[in-house]
Amino acid sequence: MKCPFCNNNDTKVVDSRLLKNGMSIRRRRRCENKECDRRFTTYEHIEIQMPVVVKVDGRRETFNRDKIFNGIQKACQKRPISTEQLERVLENIEKNILEESTKEVNSVLIGNLVMMYLRNLDPVAYIRFASVYRKFQDVEEFVNDIKGDEENFNTLR
Ligand SMILES: [Zn+2]
Repeated sequence: MKCPFCNNNDTKVVDSRLLKNGMSIRRRRRCENKECDRRFTTYEHIEIQMPVVVKVDGRRETFNRDKIFNGIQKACQKRPISTEQLERVLENIEKNILEESTKEVNSVLIGNLVMMYLRNLDPVAYIRFASVYRKFQDVEEFVNDIKGDEENFNTLR
């Protein structure tokens, strides 16, 4: 792998660590160019094909990790929850979905999983998510509507 600082072609892995979930590896690399000698980190992730999401109206769409993460993040705004905790919730949700099916998954199941994990994580985040989500039954629309629903949202803070 190239050094991102000096473009040198030779870099050496000085440390590899398997991350907690066993799904990614973190590598510390050092540039072999003595004048540069800088270090940087790379991550290796296992890529898993997630099932297609079936929406309430029957439409199908590709599973979108970022969308679910954004929804969880929105619900947890200004709550004492770390990004690492949010990522763990997402990992668990993905694991549960894959246990359910590798072909298709109902969007309702995804929403219910989000609610289940939020309930264990933080009561305020859970109420925020559940109150808005129940109206839409869709994580995507939860994110889209959160601005329009700001008043309703404020009363829960
Ligand atoms: Zn370098």
